[in-house]
This record gives sequence, structure tokens and C-alpha cells, in this order.
Amino acid sequence: MIPTIAQVALPVPLHKTFDYLIGNDMPVVGGRVRVPFGKQYKIGIVTALADQSAFPLTQLKPINAVLDDAPLWAPALYKLLNWASRYYQYPLGDALATVMPGSLRKGKPAHRERERVWQLTEAGKDQPITALTRAPKQARILTMLRSGAMAHSDLLDSDLTAAVIKTAEEKGWINIVQNVRAKPWMPNYRVVEDKPTPNHEQALAVATINASPEFGCYLIEGVTGSGKTEVYLNALEPVLARGQQALILVPEIGLTPQTINRFKRRFNVPVEVMHSGLNDTERLNAWLAARDNEAAIIIGTRSALFAPFKSLGIIIVDEEHDASYKQQDSFRYHARDLAVMRGHEENVPVILGSATPCLESLHNAKTGKYHHLTLSIRAGNAIKAKHGVLDIRGLYLEAGLSAPLIAEMRKHLSDGNQVMLFLNRRGYAPALMCHECGWLAECKRCDAYYTLHQQSNELRCHHCGTQRPIPHQCGQCGSTQLIGVGVGTEQLEAQLATLFPEFKTIRIDRDNTRRKGSLEAYLDAIHNKEYQILIGTQMLAKGHHFPDVTLVALVDVDSALFSNDFRAPERLAQLFVQVAGRAGRASKPGFVLLQTHHPEHALLQSLIHKGYDCFASEALIERQQANLPPYSFFALFRSEANHSEQVEQFLQQVRTILDASPVPDDDCAVMGPAPAPLPRRAGRYRWQLIFQAPNRRMLQQRLSAALPAIRQLPLSKKVRWSLDIEPQDMS
Ligand code: ADP
Ligand code: ZN
Ligand code: ZN
Repeated sequence: MIPTIAQVALPVPLHKTFDYLIGNDMPVVGGRVRVPFGKQYKIGIVTALADQSAFPLTQLKPINAVLDDAPLWAPALYKLLNWASRYYQYPLGDALATVMPGSLRKGKPAHRERERVWQLTEAGKDQPITALTRAPKQARILTMLRSGAMAHSDLLDSDLTAAVIKTAEEKGWINIVQNVRAKPWMPNYRVVEDKPTPNHEQALAVATINASPEFGCYLIEGVTGSGKTEVYLNALEPVLARGQQALILVPEIGLTPQTINRFKRRFNVPVEVMHSGLNDTERLNAWLAARDNEAAIIIGTRSALFAPFKSLGIIIVDEEHDASYKQQDSFRYHARDLAVMRGHEENVPVILGSATPCLESLHNAKTGKYHHLTLSIRAGNAIKAKHGVLDIRGLYLEAGLSAPLIAEMRKHLSDGNQVMLFLNRRGYAPALMCHECGWLAECKRCDAYYTLHQQSNELRCHHCGTQRPIPHQCGQCGSTQLIGVGVGTEQLEAQLATLFPEFKTIRIDRDNTRRKGSLEAYLDAIHNKEYQILIGTQMLAKGHHFPDVTLVALVDVDSALFSNDFRAPERLAQLFVQVAGRAGRASKPGFVLLQTHHPEHALLQSLIHKGYDCFASEALIERQQANLPPYSFFALFRSEANHSEQVEQFLQQVRTILDASPVPDDDCAVMGPAPAPLPRRAGRYRWQLIFQAPNRRMLQQRLSAALPAIRQLPLSKKVRWSLDIEPQDMS
């Protein structure tokens, strides 16, 4: 067959490809083409070549330009991308556009824009120099290039101008050398001599992983400081020695210079970094360095999972429980899950590491799908943090702090140590209430109360972003007695200034770390002990070590214990273990305190007395009894519109389609439609529908069967809706 038609996946929200006529240039499957689409041009990926179309040829438009002469992705990665597009029900053209560097999306060449190197053409070689006496500069350029190709800048350095070079090119005597060869990283590889000798647990883990260069998934469960990174480094050795490359994924906040330097220092090889802060050029360069084997190690956040490799040898996912691995909008993939898929597809080992593995991974380890490797010994004889539960029933609270906690803080502070308080609630108070009649200031656009922000002197809705001045009078009875209800980090900060005027307090949350580099500056100041009391949200628990913090308190754990999000207890347990691991040092063990009204709560008890593993086992039993993930697989339909009836009606129709399954009794269930946990946001009514399946295959099959009909529903064009496969956040 001589193909005449190219099927092209375009970055448009339509679940289909488009046919175009092939011109003189033959496109390649997996390569880019520019095609007319509506009134404009779009860049898409060729998914197949054919010699016929379902449409009359006269209706088809020709390809405008073929941009690649080779596929952008190797077969294994291309297959993974296709699978991910199907599994996460995201259009292939959109998915491929999402994962390619911005400059490729804009049509730039998929090779490094290196310096131009000029060489003689056949015509240039044949051109007699003696015939150029009246063009001495042309004669010079030809003479110089006769002894070999030269870089543009070298020609300029030899007193030739850009105009001269251009004339020679126009005469057809010189052209640019194509395919400048990439410099592979291999020759300089060596391991530094003075690396720590692995302890027996590390040695066992390394031996298990290194036993085979083929696919296997290894869950390393090791407390902070137990030497997980050391195991990763040892697992990299044989990979790099074979000349293969490594992909290391880290959570958004974990990509610190320290981490990167550790990998750079151990092996004398090029390390490239990929994260959302790169500009187009940097991103393309990192992408090319991976693909062309110029980088040996790629360290990156979530989207680095899609980096191309010349020869991938291992994938490592550090802090595998971290929520930032799941993309929360548009292409809602989970980088950890896809990392395992990729490892399988490319037949290389995958390491998942964490002090607090997610329940899904622990389940896979317990059922034998993953090798379970444990590191229990903290390197350097660091002592495990102690912990205790503070029963605050009936106790007077000052900005959320009980007297025993304040006394404990005073003890640690006067010993010259630092104290860290966790409270996951920004602002001064989560609500503003009238003391006379009980009226609460409510956002007009959301079913939510305003948060009181005293520093900026305003009420703010944390759901839609609306801001307004703090009212002086009650909206109902006119009283001026308005009070904040509950405690946020701002209030805690103010209260601490009163309680401990001799110590300096720093608050670290999203409100004051938005500016690039500000978090790093605060962390430095903390390490230099400029502050003694640290107040933080989850952000502080990730990736940072605080050797002078000897007391950590979780100010309010009750909201997590009784949250309607079934993952809240798991997140609380992870926070607890993570902070315990990051505080203190060998000579100064940390102490972790939890304030609660429910000290007898079963999950809290097992977490405190028996540790994360026991907590996880019990939490898994609860999940199994309730048939929740990982014992079932969820897909969440979210829908919102200005009219509540439309949203509900749409999801009702979705339900009808899902219920009309070709295989009726297959253990799938549909729950809802029901109002979302936040039923109205920014003036829009929000509803949800959950589809539940016993396994991924069934989830994928049933949804794929139903979605074409769902997309045909007239209401699907009237309401905003999305589908989140295996959602992490159910709000
Ligand atoms: P994790 O990644 O689990 O937090 P690291 O690999 O960062 O742990 O190790 C914590 C510290 O202990 C590091 O400073 C590391 O160099 C050191 N370390 C790790 N393993 C050993 C070992 N076997 N012998 C001596 N020091 C070690
Ligand atoms: Zn009132
Ligand atoms: Zn609002």
C-alpha cells in the first residue's frame, strides 16, 4: 500500500482523529504535521497512514507541512501514551500535546538548535577558486571550508561577514551540516570512592533490586533517614554501568538542590532536571538530552514521567505517597501508576520509596504484586521521635492551644530548641459570626462561609477567591458584635506573639510562599535559627529536615478523623509519621504531640502505639469492608452549571447510560448523582456521580462503552463536566 491519507490526532477536545491528504512529503506515524483546521493551522501527531478514508477524498484537505522525519516517542512510550489517553478518558491529541515540550507543540524542530555548522556542497567543491579573483571573500570562505566544516561563529571570527556567508549559501556553494551528533554521556561515568557501606537492610534491598535488569516493582518502606536515597544510588550503579539512563520522580516540593547534588556528586554524569518552572528552551533541551542520550539521569516532577529516553534502565518514584503525583485537572493521570506501567512496557525495574507508602501500594506489596523491602534502621544511630496524644476534652484552648501544650512548648523553647505547629487552616478564623444572633458571613457565590483574614483586613472565600472588606455590622440584626469562629494559622501566629513575646514566630503557608524563592529563604532562616516557632500547613512536612525542631504538635487532628473524605485518616497518618521523621537529630530526639477530643479513636490508637504499618493494615481492612480503593476502582463524574436541575438531570442521564450495561451483574456500581461536598461554587451548582468497578479493566471497558453516548447527550454541551479516573480528591 502506498499511503495517501494520514490520520492525525489534534489538540482539540474531541475523541477522534482527522484524515488529511498526504502531499510530496511522507509523514511518519508518531511524528508531527501541520494541518489546516477550521480557519487556522494546528499541529498534530500522525496516528496512522492509510490508503482510504471514510470521507470522500474531495472533502479532505492536504497536510500543510511534515515537521518530523522520525516519531517523537519510541514505541514503548508511544504505547503507554495511547494507553493513558484511553484509561484516563482524555483525547489522544490533547494528551500528546500535553506531554510534549511547549516548543514542539508550537512546531519548533525536535532537535537542538545548536550552532550552525557550514560545509561545502558538491557545487562548492567543484567551483574553481581561481575564477573568484573578483570575489576574494567568496574565495576565502571556499578555501577555508575545503579543509573541513566550520562553525558559523568561527567563520565570523575569521573576518567573514554574515552577508558573505549568505551569498555563498545563495550561490549553492555551502550548506548547513545536518544531524549534529549528540554527545553521549557515557565516557565520563565513574562512582565516587568514599560512599557509605550499606547496612544489611540496604544491602538486601539493593541485591533484590539489582538481581534483574527486567521489570519488577519494588516498594521500599523506610523511615526518614533510613537510607532510601542511598539505596536508589546503589540501584543506579549497574544501570549506569550498562550505559542505560535513569528516571527519578520527586514530589513538587522535593526537587531541592540538595537532592539533585547528591546524584550529581555520586556519579560523574550529566543530570538534567525537569519541572514546571522551566521555560520552553530549557524544557526542550532537557527533553532532547534525555532522548539523545546526553543525560544519564533525569530528575523531575510528575510530568517528567513522559520524558523520552534513548535507553531507559530504571524508574524511581520518591515519596510515592505524595498527592502531587496525580494531576488534578485536564489530563488527570497518576504519575506513580503510569511509572509502574512504563516500567512494565519498557521492561525495567521500578522503585517506589516512602516512609509512609500509600495504601494502594501497600496493598500491592501485601498481595505479592510488588516486592516489599523495609528499611527500619536510621543511619547514624538517630533516635526515633517520641510521641503522645493530648486529650483536650474540656480543656480551655487559647487560639487552639491547650495549657499542657503551651507548657511543653515553653520547655523546649527555653532549652534553645525550635517548635513546629501544624494547622491546615489558613487565615485568622474559618468563619465570622454575630455574637448576638448567630448569623454567619457567607459567600454569596458558594455554599461556604467566608474566612476571616485579619492581616489583609478582609473576608475571603477560599473556594471562589471572592474578597470583601470585613463588615462592621451583622447582616441580620445589625449588631456590631462580630467574632471569629475557630482558629486559623494567622490567629495562632498572633496568639503566639502574646504567649511567647521573647521568641520569633514564622508562618509558612500558601499565602506567603507564592513568590518564587520565598520558601527557600524562609527555610534558610529557620535553619539559621532566626525563628524559634514555626507554624505551617502540610507544606512544611515535605522533604525538609529540621534538626533543631524538638517539638512538633498537630494542633487539630479531629477534622481529619471525621472528614467525609475517606483518604483523610491516611493523609493524617502520613503527616504524623513524616513530621516525626524530620524533626530532631541523634543528640536531640524529637517529640510529636497530637491534640484531639477523641484519644480513643481506633486509627489514632494503632498509629500511635503500633506505628504506620499497623495503622495501614487496619485502614486497609476498613477500606475492604467498605469496598473502597484499593479494593475497588472509582471514576468520578463532576458536573456544574448555573442551574441545579440541569446538572442533576445530566448526571441522571449519565447514570441511565451506565446502568444499561451490556454485562449487567459484573460487580460494578453507580452511586449518585448527589450534590458535591461543596454544592455551589462561584455561583455554579455542583453535582457528582461515582462509578465503581472491581478492577481497572472493567472500569475502562464500561466507561469506554458508555462515553460515546454520554458525549451525545444534549445536556453534555450545556453543563460543564469532567471525568476523573481514580480521583484522589473527591471534593
Ligand atoms: P532517606 O532517603 O531514607 O531519608 P538517606 O539516604 O538520605 O535517607 O540517608 C540519610 C543519611 O544517612 C544521609 O546523610 C546518608 O548519607 C546517610 N546514610 C545512609 N545510609 C548510610 C550507611 N549505610 N552508612 C552511613 N551513612 C548512611
Ligand atoms: Zn446578628
Ligand atoms: Zn465563594
